[in-house]
Amino acid sequence: MRIIIFLGVLFSALNLNAQALCPILPRPVTYIDGGTNKSSLLCDTLRFNTQNLPKNISAVLPEIAKLYLPDPSLVELMPNNGFITFQQLTGGYPESYSINVNTDQIRITYTSESSCFNALQSFFQLITLVDDGKRFSIPVSFVKDYPSFSWRGLHLDVSRHFFSVEEVKQYLDLMSMYKFNMFHWHLTDDQGWRIEIKRYPKLTSIGAWRDSTIENHYSTFPRTWNTTRYGGFYTQEQIKEVVAYAAARQITVVPEIEMPGHARAALAAYPEYSCNGNKQAVPGVWGVFDDVFCTKDSTILFLQNILDEVMGLFPSPYIHVGGDEVPKTRWKQCPRCQATIKTLALADEHELQSYFIGQMDQYLQAHNRKLIGWDEILEGGLTSGAAVMSWRGTEGGIAAAKQGHFVVMSPGSHCYFDHYQGKSVSEPLAIGGYTPLEKVYEFNPIPEGLKDYEARFILGGQANLWTEYIPTFDQLTYMTYPRAIALSQGLWGGTKAPYKDFESVLKTYHIPRLMGPILNTNVSLSFMKPDIKFEREPYGISLSFEFKDTNESVVVSFPMREEGIWLSQGKKLPFNRPQKKSIQRKFTYFSPCCADSLSIIEHQGLGANVTYITPPNSRYDSGDLTLVDGQFGARPWRGYQWVGFDTNTIEIKVGLEEKRKIKGLELGYLYEPSSWIHLPNEVKITMDSGRTKFVNIASERTVIRFKNKTQTIRLQITGPKTIPVGFPGEGSAPWIFMDEIIIR
Ligand SMILES: [Zn+2]
Repeated sequence: MRIIIFLGVLFSALNLNAQALCPILPRPVTYIDGGTNKSSLLCDTLRFNTQNLPKNISAVLPEIAKLYLPDPSLVELMPNNGFITFQQLTGGYPESYSINVNTDQIRITYTSESSCFNALQSFFQLITLVDDGKRFSIPVSFVKDYPSFSWRGLHLDVSRHFFSVEEVKQYLDLMSMYKFNMFHWHLTDDQGWRIEIKRYPKLTSIGAWRDSTIENHYSTFPRTWNTTRYGGFYTQEQIKEVVAYAAARQITVVPEIEMPGHARAALAAYPEYSCNGNKQAVPGVWGVFDDVFCTKDSTILFLQNILDEVMGLFPSPYIHVGGDEVPKTRWKQCPRCQATIKTLALADEHELQSYFIGQMDQYLQAHNRKLIGWDEILEGGLTSGAAVMSWRGTEGGIAAAKQGHFVVMSPGSHCYFDHYQGKSVSEPLAIGGYTPLEKVYEFNPIPEGLKDYEARFILGGQANLWTEYIPTFDQLTYMTYPRAIALSQGLWGGTKAPYKDFESVLKTYHIPRLMGPILNTNVSLSFMKPDIKFEREPYGISLSFEFKDTNESVVVSFPMREEGIWLSQGKKLPFNRPQKKSIQRKFTYFSPCCADSLSIIEHQGLGANVTYITPPNSRYDSGDLTLVDGQFGARPWRGYQWVGFDTNTIEIKVGLEEKRKIKGLELGYLYEPSSWIHLPNEVKITMDSGRTKFVNIASERTVIRFKNKTQTIRLQITGPKTIPVGFPGEGSAPWIFMDEIIIR
């Protein structure tokens, strides 16, 4: 893989810097290392005295060892002997543990099975292999640790893409290493029902399969399709296996059965539980659908029967019922839904949703379980006892906590790992957004604006892995790690180390472990990539590569050129305006972690002065160099490299440094009708002489040929006043997005 080349050099260099830092992540509340003499316990076998070790933990200990050691047979469990001893403390801080390493013995204290499990994860993270891997070295140290939050979750959507039992187990293994204790298993959605329900076999025989899947981004036009039948589901036996596997690793599996929205897969199997009974196939496109469960009694009974089987499989105190993104279209047209509104004297369809969720809440409570749902369940009033997962920002969570409901914080800003984590063009297709590692590390589950007694309702937080754009397990781990490790710190609590130290420990110990031969996990190194700075120069533009660590540098390699160009921090790579023809210059740049490529078009307008006579919308104004930086923007749109306008007449002036003979223009626009972004209709081009040219725009890139000698080029762009009928947002004002003005 592309990442391997420089890795060896990188990690050996970093090892030296990070020795003083605690190798455990999330960082424990207290870590004291052996001080200046840096002594260690050295041994060739890890002998655990199991006398005071809980039986369940003895059973899973060899499994934990397998995550860390190349030869797990070097772990010995001894009933009355061994230098690694355990002691259970009664009282003490809940879930706390300690590890005390001397040169000849190790003592671990714990207060519960889960704290003992977490202690072992920390213990294995202290070990390094020495003497060619023949001996273990454990630094003389003291660890005292406990979590701040009881809900430390990762979510996994298995509906949009399906992951096998073995893959789910690997996901749980990685979670357990970073002390996550809640696995939110999103088992049903529009695009597939993934849990066997014996009473309703069509849920999986029909609902688990779709005939086609969208291949490109949802917003790309036109869409393309993979017509291979896609699907899968877990049998009840497999579910039990996963639940037991998780429990052994101190992880609770919280199942999610989506209702009343995101129900198309279930309704494909049992259309009688919709409002209009229409039969429709399982969709292969993402989004929010109008067809949802009807609120009639038979549907409520159907779903409660499903919950019966779900409760039989999952011992979790919380059962997730979704509740997000429920269009009210069908309910407004449905005589039975309307009759319920009338009979119960409900104000509107929001209160009808509240009634629906209330039916599930009562049912779960009657079975000694608790309901949790996405923050939309607050709309129309939330029934007592229900907990809220706040995803649309933090407001839902704040409102719920103020009303005395328990809350799990999962705001899109920090916790949506389906967002991009890097700006390189080599990032795999994602839904959008930009949530880099550093941002995740900032996450604090307690939002500002809560009083202390209200903050006690915050159970913790979790990251969500929606898998519309995550078709494989390799890509799933790439999107999850290392961001989940950054999140684990916010969820575990304690005092956060400066980000720089976190990154250093991550690079020195955790990334090599994750990528190494034992775990062999595909993780993202995007956080190690340089930021690229574009600057306007008298000759055109320059690029420089900026790292957080100023000692790093890149090597740039152009095809047909034997030697690479070594660029230290801040040194500029020039791109010139050509005298005649424009040239596309592709190159590869190697940073210590990765290789990436980029392509710059050297054209006569490169780095020219751009004046926005019509200002871009402030949210989508990436500056006046964007249109002349020699690059087309990434598609689908990722929030940068584009300039967005919210008016239908736009005027832009491009000024060259002198009069030049030009042979035409190439204009780049974005066409994403699902995001309300449309092409303009027409562009009027005016040269110095007053000569004008009108061009109709019919595609994202328009090449316009004409000859003129001019210093300034004025573009007057006219777009449609409203979005045409039949498109999302029809009748509203459209957006116009531009990425480049190439002057030939
Ligand atoms: Zn209805």
